[in-house]
Amino acid sequence: MISLQKKIGNGIIDTPSCPLKCRYCAHISLPRTDSSYEKTLAFLSDPQLNKVYIGGAEPMSQKTEVIDLIKALKRRGKEITLKTTGSDPKALKETIGFVSRYVIEIKGPMDDVALYQRLTQLNEAEVQGYLAALKESLEILKDQKLRIFLRIIPGYVTEEGIERLGKQLQGYADQANLVQFMSSRYDIPFDGISMPSPDIETMTRYGEVLLRYIPYIHLQGNGLDSVLKA
Ligand code: SF4
Repeated sequence: MISLQKKIGNGIIDTPSCPLKCRYCAHISLPRTDSSYEKTLAFLSDPQLNKVYIGGAEPMSQKTEVIDLIKALKRRGKEITLKTTGSDPKALKETIGFVSRYVIEIKGPMDDVALYQRLTQLNEAEVQGYLAALKESLEILKDQKLRIFLRIIPGYVTEEGIERLGKQLQGYADQANLVQFMSSRYDIPFDGISMPSPDIETMTRYGEVLLRYIPYIHLQGNGLDSVLKA
């Protein structure tokens, strides 16, 4: 099913596939140890684990097992964070009441079909379908705690794009995490970019723009780990 880790009080689950198949994504090809549902539940039921992070690639690619797992872990008193692309609103709806915080990975403004086509392996019609599902997911999660995960890829994510995305997300997300491209093991070189970029100054400026719409911004990157609050 998935690969598992434990880190001081936290259990982490990685699922292997994602419908977006981003061109720069290492996550979908990382080596992982397969684990059955029963083994996963037993592993995460460890009383020493208070929190469980169910993350990338896209957990809802295994929704039947993941939804059952979320409910079983909640019954065991775990605090659950669920990361998703927002591509399956119906499945997300089933998790309401069981998840403490949602994280939605977004690429840029939700009306920029061409941007999503350039970054993923989806065709135009598939991007349009995905963006409609993403917007539906945001509506479903409107009263939930929601963090946006946005990878800043130079030449693709711009200040104007951040401003536009901020307006689209205002009232939906209470936190955002901006991550510098190529600063984590989950990115592979893309379109000639192989070093962590953009620079810290640009990351901070983008964070300040998004702060007009989302009250808590976590900036992460190479030599960068800071929080901006409204
Ligand atoms: S970068 Fe995120 S959205 Fe894109 S394929 Fe990887 S896990 Fe999916």
